[in-house]
Amino acid sequence: MTDVILEKVGKTYLNGFQAIPSVDLSIEEGEFIVLVGPSGCGKSTLLRMVAGLESISSGTLRIRGEHMNNKEPAERDIAMVFQNYALYPHMTVYNNMAYGLKNRGVPKDQIEEKVTDVAQMLGLTELLQRKPGQLSGGQRQRVAMGRAMVRDPTVFLFDEPLSNLDAKLRVQMRVEIRQLQRKLGTTTLYVTHDQVEAMTLADRLVVLNKGKAEQIGTPMELYNTP
Ligand code: ADP
Ligand code: ADP
Repeated sequence: MTDVILEKVGKTYLNGFQAIPSVDLSIEEGEFIVLVGPSGCGKSTLLRMVAGLESISSGTLRIRGEHMNNKEPAERDIAMVFQNYALYPHMTVYNNMAYGLKNRGVPKDQIEEKVTDVAQMLGLTELLQRKPGQLSGGQRQRVAMGRAMVRDPTVFLFDEPLSNLDAKLRVQMRVEIRQLQRKLGTTTLYVTHDQVEAMTLADRLVVLNKGKAEQIGTPMELYNTP
């Protein structure tokens, strides 16, 4: 089943700059799509339009068949993980993960079950009472992922989530993200400028250049390497 459809989606910023002329992309349910390309090619713009953080200037975005162009971020059933973690510094790990669910009025016992469960999966059980300032970079990134995962979203969006980590941790987290995504089966759109990261993670890659999808295909098709 096709989960996310971009039909001739374009973005012109208020200053008149056309960041994305027109992109067509169909993402299957459970698929891991990586958007790759040089700095400034429009990766974040595209991701933010899917998230609803940036308006869509032209074309149509559909998720599970539903027209999304004018829906607020909260109505899109999407969870996003950022490069800078964007955790609440004054809240415990537990409350960082629980925050979105509390806001949506999910009952307390369900929140506790979900947070406990996801914390277990991410190896955060012992850290639930700490605050972000008392965690390593890798642990913080796990909390950011946990916060996205507890919501059981239709779509995960990742915006260069590993860029702030050192090389060793980057490889480790990359493997973990892929394992978790496979296990959950959540449709994923992942942005990176790192080609190796892109090739290792992707079911299919979208190579963006100056706002255009120059190539779309599996790592095999694009780079001829298994
Ligand atoms: P990437 O994520 O690939 O680095 P971006 O999507 O951030 O690229 O940016 C794509 C292009 O759009 C760049 O040329 C950038 O300067 C421009 N851009 C980004 N945000 C704005 C904005 N708010 N107003 C005008 N131009 C923007
Ligand atoms: P509040 O909503 O005011 O934070 P809670 O009763 O939800 O109050 O939580 C109180 C404290 O207990 C919070 O700091 C939270 O981190 C922690 N907490 C609640 N439930 C759990 C749990 N199952 N495991 C770990 N910590 C928990």
